[in-house]
Order: sequence, then C-alpha cells, then structure tokens
Amino acid sequence: MSLRQSQDGGAQIFVASRNAKKIAEMERILAPLVPGVQVLGLDDVDFYEEPVEDAPTFEGNALIKARAGFAATGLPSVADDSGLCVDALNGMPGVLSARWGGKPKSDDRNNQLLLDQLGDVPDERRQAHFACVIAFVHGAGELVVEGRMDGRVIREVRGSGGFGYDVLFVADDTPDGRTSAELSVAEKDAISHRGKAMREIGPAIAAVLAD
Ligand code: IMP
Repeated sequence: MSLRQSQDGGAQIFVASRNAKKIAEMERILAPLVPGVQVLGLDDVDFYEEPVEDAPTFEGNALIKARAGFAATGLPSVADDSGLCVDALNGMPGVLSARWGGKPKSDDRNNQLLLDQLGDVPDERRQAHFACVIAFVHGAGELVVEGRMDGRVIREVRGSGGFGYDVLFVADDTPDGRTSAELSVAEKDAISHRGKAMREIGPAIAAVLAD
C-alpha cells in the first residue's frame, strides 16, 4: 500500500471519489473536528477496481462504494450516493439520476428528458427532492446518514451554477423562486441534501477517528 503519508502523523480518512470538490468539502467539515486530519481520494491511493453500483437504493450504492474503499485501503472510508426523486415519476430518476438520459452521462440530456416526461404534469404536482446518502465504513462498524432537500421541478432551465438538475429545481427553502443553479455555493450548502448529510456525519466520523 503506497498511501500518501500524513506529514504530521494526523488521522487519515479515505473518500471513494475523484471529485476534488467532494474531497475538499469533507476536509473542510472534518478539519475543525479532527485537527490534522488528511482526507485521501481515489487518486491518492493505489489503483483498485471500483465496484459496480447496482443497488436499487442510495444507501445500498453508498455502502457498496465505502465497503470497497475500506477493503482496498484499510482506511476508515466514506462514500456517497445521491440523486433527484420526482413524485410524479414514482421517485425516479433516483439512483439512475446520473445517466437518466442515457450514456455517456449528459446533464443537458438528463434535464431535457425530465422536462419531456413532466410536460403534462401541472404545477401543483411537480414536487421532488434531492437525496444524498453517505456511508462510513471503518474497522469497528458502519454508519449511514441521509440528507434531503425538498422542492419542485420547474418548466425551463434557469441559472448557471451548480450541476446536474440544479437548473430545473427550486427548493422549498428558497422562497424567492431561484433555482439551485442560481444560489451561491454557500447558500446551496446551507440547505442542500449533501450539506445536511455531511454536517450530520462529520461529528460521528470525528468520534471514530478520535477513538
Ligand atoms: P452523484 O451521487 O454525486 O454521482 O450524483 C448522481 C447524480 O444525481 C448527478 O449526476 C446529478 O444528476 C444528480 N444530483 C445529485 N446531487 C445533485 C445536486 O446537488 N444538484 C443537481 N443534481 C444532483
């Protein structure tokens, strides 16, 4: 195992992701709770075959990724899975959110397909929520938390921030009607499914690392 060694001998944790923003966000949340913590991503550890995410739930997929990370690195490991659940589509796209419009993954195609599918759905039945499940797998057990952001899907894309379905989603916690793609990063973090899950799991991870 050729893990990048922590310079100051601080605790290390592995996040099963190549997304630098996710890794940095975890580091920001853990740093005040676990001084000197080092958060490693997939690009910081020896290559391993990433598992297929074929579970029917966010929790199942997050656990698949976190367990594989722990098995490969031996480090306390975190993974998340997230998506948009639309009431009028019986909770879809859900775990299929990333590739709803087919492969290769395209946010534009996903959004267009969603708009087409909801074309006849009236305003009062366009409720949806984003969900984010984070799994934490370590030597002594597993922990799973879920964060959720409720809102509705609008009829045309608006905004240039965020990613994915943000351009079509207005959160209930944004009463001025801006989409998630029109919020600042700090505004979205404060109400988002991912922000809520991260803030909930941070202290639990800190407690395990401190043991
Ligand atoms: P992942 O779990 O981060 O890979 O996200 C899965 C998919 O869900 C993304 O590709 C997006 O399509 C959608 N998604 C998850 N979270 C968000 C969000 O905060 N905004 C917009 N789309 C999201």
